[in-house]
Amino acid sequence: MKITHLKTNHVSNPLGFAIDKPIFSWIVEDTSDTVQIAARVQVSLDSEFEDIVFDSGKVDGSAIDNIAYTPPIELRPYQRYFWKVEIWGETETAESEIAWFETAKMDDTWQASWITPAWDNNQIHPTLLKEFDIANEIKSARAYICGLGLYHFELNAEKVGDEYLTPYCNAYDQWMQYQTFDITENLKLGLNRIEIMLGNGWYKGRYGSGGGVAEYYGNRFALLCEIRINLANGDEIVINSDTSWQAQKSPVVASDIFDGEVYDARIGKNKLSDDELSPVKTIDIETHLLEARRSLPVRVMDVLKPIALLHTPDGETVLDMGQNMTGWLRFKTNAPAGTEIKLQFGELLQGGNFFRENLRTAKAEYIYIADGTEATIEPYFTFFGFRYVKITGWVGDINLEDFTGCVVYSDMDTIGEIETSNDKINRLIKNTFWSQIDNFLDIPMDCPQRDERLGWTGDIQVFSGTASFNMDVMAFLSKFAYDLEKEQSKLGGMVPHIVPRANQQDGAAAAWADVATILPWTLYEFYGDIGVLEQQFDSMRAWVDYVKSIDDSSGSKRLWTGGKHFGDWLSLDEPLYPDVRRGGTPHDFIASAYYCYSSRLVAQTAKVLEKHEISETYERLSQEIKSAIQQEYFTGDGQFILSTQTGYLLAIFMNLAPTGYGKQLESDFITQIKKDGVYLRTGFVGTPLLCRVLSNIGANDLAYQLLLNEDNPSWLYAVNLGATTIWERWNALNPDGLISSKNMRSHSFNHYAYGSVVEWLYRDVCGLNPTVDVNESVGFRHALIAPKPHPSIQSAQARYRSVAGYYQSAWQIDKAGYVNLEISIPFNASAEIILSDVNLSDVTLDGENLTDASQIATNVSFNLNAGTYRITYPLSENKLFQS
Ligand code: BGC
Repeated sequence: MKITHLKTNHVSNPLGFAIDKPIFSWIVEDTSDTVQIAARVQVSLDSEFEDIVFDSGKVDGSAIDNIAYTPPIELRPYQRYFWKVEIWGETETAESEIAWFETAKMDDTWQASWITPAWDNNQIHPTLLKEFDIANEIKSARAYICGLGLYHFELNAEKVGDEYLTPYCNAYDQWMQYQTFDITENLKLGLNRIEIMLGNGWYKGRYGSGGGVAEYYGNRFALLCEIRINLANGDEIVINSDTSWQAQKSPVVASDIFDGEVYDARIGKNKLSDDELSPVKTIDIETHLLEARRSLPVRVMDVLKPIALLHTPDGETVLDMGQNMTGWLRFKTNAPAGTEIKLQFGELLQGGNFFRENLRTAKAEYIYIADGTEATIEPYFTFFGFRYVKITGWVGDINLEDFTGCVVYSDMDTIGEIETSNDKINRLIKNTFWSQIDNFLDIPMDCPQRDERLGWTGDIQVFSGTASFNMDVMAFLSKFAYDLEKEQSKLGGMVPHIVPRANQQDGAAAAWADVATILPWTLYEFYGDIGVLEQQFDSMRAWVDYVKSIDDSSGSKRLWTGGKHFGDWLSLDEPLYPDVRRGGTPHDFIASAYYCYSSRLVAQTAKVLEKHEISETYERLSQEIKSAIQQEYFTGDGQFILSTQTGYLLAIFMNLAPTGYGKQLESDFITQIKKDGVYLRTGFVGTPLLCRVLSNIGANDLAYQLLLNEDNPSWLYAVNLGATTIWERWNALNPDGLISSKNMRSHSFNHYAYGSVVEWLYRDVCGLNPTVDVNESVGFRHALIAPKPHPSIQSAQARYRSVAGYYQSAWQIDKAGYVNLEISIPFNASAEIILSDVNLSDVTLDGENLTDASQIATNVSFNLNAGTYRITYPLSENKLFQS
């Protein structure tokens, strides 16, 4: 038995994060024990556990929950807390390693002042400096720091930590995050030197809608830095940013998230002389906006080597990274002084030539002006979305060894893996994973390359399930939800289209704004931590109240009509609106369906939070909306009046049919799909539901057929055209690889929305589902495992490190038409298994007939506790026939 993956508030050993109350989680693995008989959690101020602040004692196993355990301790600032866990199973016991978390300043006031260079020109990028002496042995030291727009922090000519793009992207007008660094090892006895370069970033550079605006949040570079050094003799030295610091022109002479960076190595770092120094002045920035960080560290998470050096028909020199990625290129050069090397980043080749029209106004380039010394170079204050890099100005031969693609995203654990017998599907899964990491750079972006890169609410709404399977996104998306709530609170509950919203004034679009309710609920379902519901409840409720106020002001019809929506964005059905991208499903229907669904989620959340009256109010509201939808969109004899795929999908998924007419709705939908030639027509709203719904209404074969379609429109169409990420549009390229039409020329090849089909692969193909049994089991404590194999692929397997522990579901269809299924359920968890289209007497569990199972219509259902099991059953004749 082993206890692993200890996290505090969903982060491993968080230093200086916002933690109001600590929430511990861990998993137990490598054991054949099934139930937690007893457990113990201890928290201490020292790693020897002598100064204990909490000890649960050895208590009954049901009293300590590994998914989310909150020790009752009061936190104090600047304090590291150590914790460990002991678990007793039926036969084995284990003790964890020691985990820790450390608080930041909490409510302690800042001694440091915001400073900025005293020079007038706000465009000159500064380095801010300070030298100081340390005369006594250092015990420990921390830096508490925030820089605007972005900061790069060096101590004694070494980068502190391994994070990039700090202090990250959030609604700077409402809160600013400071980071905490452990700098004990960076300091030395004697003279120490701090150098902090500042760049424009999201705060001061271009950010926002319509290509963004510069200086939306602020027009001055600024730094706030408080360094606290504990000496062995018990003294404390505090170094604050103040007017004793100095400024120098930075070698970064221009920087911007969209446009890239210009670095003049001749200006140099760490080598200034006194006459280049300028004074700094204090600047008035509200320190009450400062909060301890919530953003996960953004790191270089992987590196790729270019796969080819191309010389294009147009005579360009282009590196091919072999993968559409986000980050930058690191390169080695010893070019002569004054050489200007230019790297331009793009996603595509067209006619064999470098192409980047789809980046719109984003310059996306890196310019390096050499100083004649050998150096390894990478940007400080920008990132690019790219597969190809055009190089100009290089002196001498290009050696691929000198280039490294740095894959940069927020540091999250990969927790899900899924593989099938079909290579193209596997590539689609991989492409989805890449589009996730490429776009999970501090905020869930729509795309990483063009002049957008924004937290579009609809995109993450539809992708949050897939994202939660692939990676542990709890902390990452909780921070986004936190920002969302801040934005909403300024807007009377309205949810903006993008978060942080910057210059985007509009919002309240159905399915986009409903991220306010859907995202927290999804996170709760997957990660079982009620904290996210507590954090977001006001926001969830405020959003539904906002829609209700629109409804009430137009007669309380209990429909959401009017407003400006994106509809089923980028769907392929007959457009109903002048902007053809907005789809063929009536917006009033989509909006009313989400109004109903969001009200229901608020009701469910209120119930979890034991706010029973509120729960009833929203449940009632949701019922009223449902009745109004039935009046409006179903005929007297229960016929649904819409015929778009997305119309059906919402009606079925959100359970909107009049009582007794659900089956008819389902079979009408199947008829409609067949009428559409078993081709998808869905956009952002319908796509994530398409296969999920089909697999659950007796049309699993159609779901597989849609997945396996290879011509346009289909998921595999892009795979066949060599896609390495998910495209924004189904038909962005023609079969010859050329951009299909003029209005596609601005489209992205790295948008995760359509990758949401991967949620179906986890949930239905492999069958892994979290269940929510209010307040009893969430976060995969009790799973629903309902795989739905189909002979059009021979095997599929998913392994998922849920918060409750490792699940696995792997099936393979043998020549005799039998499904061989292997299921693993983690320690102290259980699952209901549902097998479809099968007779109870035909099922074996570890070689034996099932004794304790039930047959409900064509389904067999039974419960299993922790363990690994082999199940066999014949595929129904029907399925074999259809394959
Ligand atoms: C973004 C989308 C977003 C949409 C809203 C686009 O520009 O890239 O992904 O959801 O606008 O319509």
